[in-house]
Amino acid sequence: MPTVSFSRELPLRHDVDVFVAGGGPAGIAATLAARAQGASVLVIDGHTCFGGMGTAALVPAFMQFGDGVNFLADGIGRRVFDLMWARNAHGPDDDRERSQWGSLGIRAEALKRIYDDLITESGAAYALGTNLVGVETAGRRIDHVVCWGKSGLFAVRAKVYVDATGDGDLSAWAGASYEQGDADGGLMPGTLCSLWTDIDWAAVRADGRYAQNVIPQAIADGVIEVDDPHLPGMWRLGEHLGGGNIGHTFGVDNTDERSVTEALIYGRRLLGQYERFYKEYLRGYERMELATTGSLLGVRETRRIVGDYQLCLDDFNQRAVFDDEVGRYSYPVDIHATRPSKENFGAFWAEFHALRYQPGESYGIPYRCLLPRDLDNALVAGRCLSADRFLQGSVRVMPGCFITGQAAGVAAALAVEQGSGPRDVAVGALHQRLKALGAWLPNAG
Ligand SMILES: Cc1cc2nc3c(=O)[nH]c(=O)nc-3n(C[C@H](O)[C@H](O)[C@H](O)COP(=O)(O)OP(=O)(O)OC[C@H]3O[C@@H](n4cnc5c(N)ncnc54)[C@H](O)[C@@H]3O)c2cc1C
Repeated sequence: MPTVSFSRELPLRHDVDVFVAGGGPAGIAATLAARAQGASVLVIDGHTCFGGMGTAALVPAFMQFGDGVNFLADGIGRRVFDLMWARNAHGPDDDRERSQWGSLGIRAEALKRIYDDLITESGAAYALGTNLVGVETAGRRIDHVVCWGKSGLFAVRAKVYVDATGDGDLSAWAGASYEQGDADGGLMPGTLCSLWTDIDWAAVRADGRYAQNVIPQAIADGVIEVDDPHLPGMWRLGEHLGGGNIGHTFGVDNTDERSVTEALIYGRRLLGQYERFYKEYLRGYERMELATTGSLLGVRETRRIVGDYQLCLDDFNQRAVFDDEVGRYSYPVDIHATRPSKENFGAFWAEFHALRYQPGESYGIPYRCLLPRDLDNALVAGRCLSADRFLQGSVRVMPGCFITGQAAGVAAALAVEQGSGPRDVAVGALHQRLKALGAWLPNAG
């Protein structure tokens, strides 16, 4: 492909202690945690709200905040959880006690306001509709980043940079090594999540059938064009409202806008087929109407930045304990099949049920998973942290991202205070600060 060069003088609009790229669960937690240590912070997000997948993409529920005995996402995760209850931002069927160990429905507009309040009250600088578009490095250090908003391009300089983009944009563009997908580069499919009105939930309950068990018939009948028996389902989010995590966009790569464009258009078309399925094959959905689809595609997997340590399946199996752990988590290994078929779904289902814990069990997340191996002044948190595919399939859910984001924020601020890089932060001091924020660290001295 031919190339052109591009060079500009840019305003250095922000010079801060900590720059956070991405305002999803990981970026929010990193911002609040760094601010709580007194660091000056700028957080940007390319979208129109904070929250990432849980708001803009309409993912309808949080997975477990705890392991059935302990509240694992304690600290900032607990603040969000409490606000979900204080502001009635959850689904009408949720139960506060049970939801700590199961799922918690999300009313996306209420959650957007929760995040707005947390960020604006934190004293951080913030900008929505603002994309990270470039990273300038000097050796292993990031010197500054380039952002784009409607005012044009501008630069930001920070002492420490936190990559909470979910896709590892900041780290990868700074030259950090990463892995992506399975051995063939195959990725978990995305889902264009959706909101549906006029569902008769009493009739759904009376019908009692599980959509997952009915969908094979609709596939056999040609109502759904793809042989994809995996149907996470519809969450009850209001009196007549449903949040759909239905349909998969196979083969999408969120690090390529051409692929995302195709997936968005395909996802919207596919939902027409699911609408027919719900209306014709199940009870209670006959009058349902599609209110909207997510304004971001739901993305489960892209880059996994290679850190000083890679969290791995063995750690899950061993319920690993690490000297430098910054939290513990317990969600099962949930790797949606790369390609649709009955057999692949069967393999997914078996793995999802085999790789799960009993109440009270969890694995540790070492601080080293947040340190990109090739960079000296950056941290990574959330979906794109350093893990193998199995553990990415567990720690990627939102409460897991609160845990790693919180740790990244505290570590970034500590590094700034010490005048060192994040790699030189003393684990004891990190534990102390995390505990002061409320983090659950049963193995820290
Ligand atoms: C369909 C689906 C269903 C899921 N179901 C559940 C569930 O039931 N429960 C659960 O807990 N989790 C669920 N997950 C997982 C979870 O939602 C995500 O893994 C989690 O939100 C990741 O958090 P994050 O902060 O790392 O990234 P994200 O939530 O993706 O947030 C990243 C943010 O960074 C911004 N960003 C990205 N790149 C740039 C850039 N270059 N410049 C500026 N901003 C940028 C994005 O706009 C986004 O707001 C689901 C995910 C999907 C896709």
